[in-house]
Amino acid sequence: MTNLAWMDSALCAQTDPDLWFPEGAGSRDRTAKKVCGTCPVSAECGGYADLLENDGSDGSRHGTWGGRSARQRTKARPRAAARDAAIVRLTDRGMTPTEIAEQLDISDRTVARVKSRS
Ligand code: SF4
Repeated sequence: MTNLAWMDSALCAQTDPDLWFPEGAGSRDRTAKKVCGTCPVSAECGGYADLLENDGSDGSRHGTWGGRSARQRTKARPRAAARDAAIVRLTDRGMTPTEIAEQLDISDRTVARVKSRS
């Protein structure tokens, strides 16, 4: 089961929800992304959006999640899938999360998030 405790710290919960689901890219989209840029749980949020989309859920296909628009998430998905596969492969080889993070030039949090899903 996914731990959603991070949502308690979501900055968007303190703002106008319409900013996260703009009709088109523009100033409202940029405002949402600015807020996401200072949000303490943006990594968890972006990971959760990826998780929902990989599961075939519809909930995250729209709107801004983790500072990325739906279009940006779609473009990044193949890269993220390759990164996730590399994390699993390096874990299977016995590397520590810190070693994997250094090898792939990503954060320890990203490694931990991917490992928690696999
Ligand atoms: S990163 Fe996610 S949780 Fe944080 S403000 Fe943006 S949409 Fe909300």
